[in-house]
Amino acid sequence: MKPAPFAYARAKSLEHAIELLGRAGGEARLLAGGQSLMATLNMRLSAPKLLIDINRIPGLAGIALKNGQDRKHVEIGALTRHVELEHSTDIAKHAPLIALAIPHIGHVAIRNRGTLGGSIAFADPAAELPACLLALGAEIEIAGENGRRTVQADDFFKGLFETALGPRDVLTAIRLPAAKPSTRAGFAEFARRHGDYAMVGLAASAEANGASLSNVRLAYFGVGATPVRARNAEKALASGATADEAVATLASNLAPHDDVQATASTKRHLAGVLLRRVAKQLMERRP
Ligand SMILES: Cc1cc2nc3c(=O)[nH]c(=O)nc-3n(C[C@H](O)[C@H](O)[C@H](O)COP(=O)(O)OP(=O)(O)OC[C@H]3O[C@@H](n4cnc5c(N)ncnc54)[C@H](O)[C@@H]3O)c2cc1C
Repeated sequence: MKPAPFAYARAKSLEHAIELLGRAGGEARLLAGGQSLMATLNMRLSAPKLLIDINRIPGLAGIALKNGQDRKHVEIGALTRHVELEHSTDIAKHAPLIALAIPHIGHVAIRNRGTLGGSIAFADPAAELPACLLALGAEIEIAGENGRRTVQADDFFKGLFETALGPRDVLTAIRLPAAKPSTRAGFAEFARRHGDYAMVGLAASAEANGASLSNVRLAYFGVGATPVRARNAEKALASGATADEAVATLASNLAPHDDVQATASTKRHLAGVLLRRVAKQLMERRP
């Protein structure tokens, strides 16, 4: 299929993009890497009147290590491509969970164009990066008609492909707490073939002190309309429970439905298998 006709505008600045979004009255879409948007246009799942290309807006891409109030953080511009995250030594050192997750996103051609901001804004429930942001307790920077605001990852993903972004907003950057020597990251997913969207996946972070874990955050993807935290399993691992005891709590937080990938019962089973693997990584892996 071909997309419905649309007009095209190239935004010169963030302000220009917001102005164009405002003028279009909800009938425009931002174009970043185009790796999800073009498919939805071609399948006519979306038929905006205007595409606003944000690729030439200065200052929207890049990875920077910054000093926060009480801790360093990693700031990543929305237009940063997956491939830049994949090859960044700063990401490998200071945001190891992102480094673990990126190779699972599609294939090289997709990672060459796809952007962090596009993935977070699109919010596919089976995507890796939204779950990573949830596991890391990231902050999401948004610019809109009324200025800039920051939304916590826990409050950003609202429903199926629905986020805290309004129709006149641009996601500008995300901020992650930089990994400390005690920080542990864990990541695992089941996909039919490498590069496919996950049937079920799990992104995790924790602080380790000897054999004990604290600040455990477990974010599943592919098990609901949004990435989902397994809060009872987080508490179990932080209180010294075994991985099997943590797995026993999953049903209280995860309620997957059947989808094209797998039945709900297969997903529940896979969620347990992944938690056992990731719990082991959290105990062993150093960034
Ligand atoms: C064959 C294939 C396989 C893939 N496999 C995976 C996979 O395994 N895992 C995975 O996570 N992804 C996968 N993807 C998707 C890929 O990661 C995309 O790059 C990503 O989902 C969207 O990023 P993008 O920059 O291409 O955004 P676009 O396609 O340009 O935009 C996506 C949506 O986000 C909006 N948007 C983009 N940027 C912003 C912004 N800064 N502010 C506000 N709104 C914005 C757009 O308006 C649009 O609605 C796959 C894609 C393809 C084609």
